[in-house]
Amino acid sequence: MENSIKAKKKFGQNFLKDSSILTRIIQSMPHNNNHIVEIGPGLGDLTQNLVKYKDTTAYEVDTDLISILKSKFAIEIHSERFKLIHTDVLEAWDKDGTLHEGKYDLIANLPYYIATNIILRAFEDVNCENIIVMIQKEVAKKFSSKVNEKEYSSLGVMTELISKESRILFDVPPESFDPPPKVMSSILYVSKDTSVELDKDFKKFLKVCFSQPRKKLSKNLSSIMNKEFLSNIYNELDIKETLRPHEVSASLYSQLYTKVKNGKHKRNSK
Ligand code: SAM
Repeated sequence: MENSIKAKKKFGQNFLKDSSILTRIIQSMPHNNNHIVEIGPGLGDLTQNLVKYKDTTAYEVDTDLISILKSKFAIEIHSERFKLIHTDVLEAWDKDGTLHEGKYDLIANLPYYIATNIILRAFEDVNCENIIVMIQKEVAKKFSSKVNEKEYSSLGVMTELISKESRILFDVPPESFDPPPKVMSSILYVSKDTSVELDKDFKKFLKVCFSQPRKKLSKNLSSIMNKEFLSNIYNELDIKETLRPHEVSASLYSQLYTKVKNGKHKRNSK
């Protein structure tokens, strides 16, 4: 490995070495004038391809990699085509609320230990328009899942509501990385519908809805509201009492949430 850098497990470091995969990621980039944000540039193999096409900002937490990247991209940093930020990306989001002041697309081979968190933060970031990220295949299936599918859960519901389109572009086997991860990976593509903002408590509501995935949704909801309130909402929305969490569409979850939120004051009263 380059400069005899040893991959650090604690930072989820699996460096992508297959140039055909790098090419396919670049070919999947949306055709627009957006800035690019990369999380975890690592040794800079994907970065090198990104900066050829667009101005790019990258967030890297590992001090050892920062010095390698600074010398590798000295020209691009000097000409301001490439901005390298040495920080934990989640802290950057906490501090600034966005990873770039202006429309951007997130393109990255994510550290898997925080991939779900990163994608959910990107959903909330109003400047982020498109997401093309390499993550664990199982997680990618959850994000891109649709109603009635086995993997459909709160991540699928949120993705459906926040996006115009979401799908897995292709799979990437462990051999494409150094060191190889234990799991199969996939490239997830999400084109956000920027007119949509999810309410901050919606995620908590979905957690309740999917708390016991095989039980009826009404059973799960009964933990946060009384029977009468629940049956009124079901009647108003014409929901079948027997439905299970994975059988409810994202738009119906959204309507349910609005009703529950608006009736908060009476949902627990007798
Ligand atoms: N982009 C490189 C590639 O494709 O070969 C490396 C990808 S590697 C899977 C994940 C990268 O994310 C590593 O460079 C790691 O140091 C970095 N990373 C891990 N946690 C991070 C965090 N909290 N904030 C920013 N970067 C992080």
